[in-house]
Amino acid sequence: MRRFAQKTIFKVQLYVPGRPIEEVKRELGLKDVIKLASNENPWGPSPKAVAAIMKEARQVNRYPDGDCFYLRQALAKRLQVSPRQLVFGNGSDEIIVLAARTFIRPGDEVIIAKPSFLIYDIAATIAGARVKAVPLKNFRYDLEGMKKAVSKKTRIIFLGNPDNPSGQYFTQKQVERFLDGLRRDILIFIDEAYHEYVQAPDYVDAIGLLKRHKNILATRTFSKMYGLAGLRVGYGIGDEETVDCLNRVREPFNVNSLAQAAALACLNDRPYYQKLAVEIERQRKAIYAGLGKLGVKYIESCTNFVLMDMRQDASRIVRALLAKGVIVRDMRAWGLERFIRVTIGTAVENERFLNALKEIL
Ligand SMILES: *Cc1c(COP(=O)(O)O)cnc(C)c1O
Repeated sequence: MRRFAQKTIFKVQLYVPGRPIEEVKRELGLKDVIKLASNENPWGPSPKAVAAIMKEARQVNRYPDGDCFYLRQALAKRLQVSPRQLVFGNGSDEIIVLAARTFIRPGDEVIIAKPSFLIYDIAATIAGARVKAVPLKNFRYDLEGMKKAVSKKTRIIFLGNPDNPSGQYFTQKQVERFLDGLRRDILIFIDEAYHEYVQAPDYVDAIGLLKRHKNILATRTFSKMYGLAGLRVGYGIGDEETVDCLNRVREPFNVNSLAQAAALACLNDRPYYQKLAVEIERQRKAIYAGLGKLGVKYIESCTNFVLMDMRQDASRIVRALLAKGVIVRDMRAWGLERFIRVTIGTAVENERFLNALKEIL
């Protein structure tokens, strides 16, 4: 069958996810393994979300609500947008894929940063786009360089805000300057998977910008801060016209019923997540302090992960940590051979990571 497949699928680099805990336990014969590789929430979702899943479980014989009615109403109210400005996905990854499938026509170009989240490149390439990757400058997006890369064929520009793997964010001013004078028929995809972690007052208000720039599509997810990665639910916020196009491509039952119930319960438990945000802040500082003591350089992050410079082949460090039951992310696939990316875990997990790293170094 291989020769009948779309040619574009052979151009992409296969996505290698962080390794699951159970797999590492099995393969290395370890009993106690921690995972700090996929920017998950180690405390788990709100107990109210778990209760909502249990309740909903009895009805999984029924198809889910293809319109995500209750979740849509609640989010629209929370974000002060019209319900028709929201599109839900099987994770926000699906919104990236939907945007590529919906808007890319043969010969179109897509602009991304290098390195950035790998799915932008994969989705755009499979959809048939030529991908122009503009290198980061000192671990920040080179917005000027990306603007210069725009051509008549540019269809989508992907901006991670905050960005993965660097953990940096853009300010409102930076994005406004970027949008100024840019063609209005280019989809500006602003990936806000880590939106809930950002405390900075000058962080971009993508929903506010949408009023003047209808070509923006912002995405957020319940996978990270909300702790529902295993259930797969994320969403896009855009102009009604953009959202309508995406909905034509979307599968009718793409968000399952457990995910919908859990996401709604998460939204309604603000105190739980406010407490988590404070704890993450504290743990981020603890990691910085630990790295400082070990003399390991890192990129300061506004998210729940930290990029660290090992100043040697990072794969060796990743393997040594794995042997001690600590899964972190090797940044080789992103072209950062000396770097690892480590998710901020619980106090116990972070201490275990720092101790393991100390022994290795
Ligand atoms: C984790 C992540 C996502 C999406 O995750 P989903 O689980 O598909 O919602 C999107 N973008 C970035 C940059 C991420 O790190």
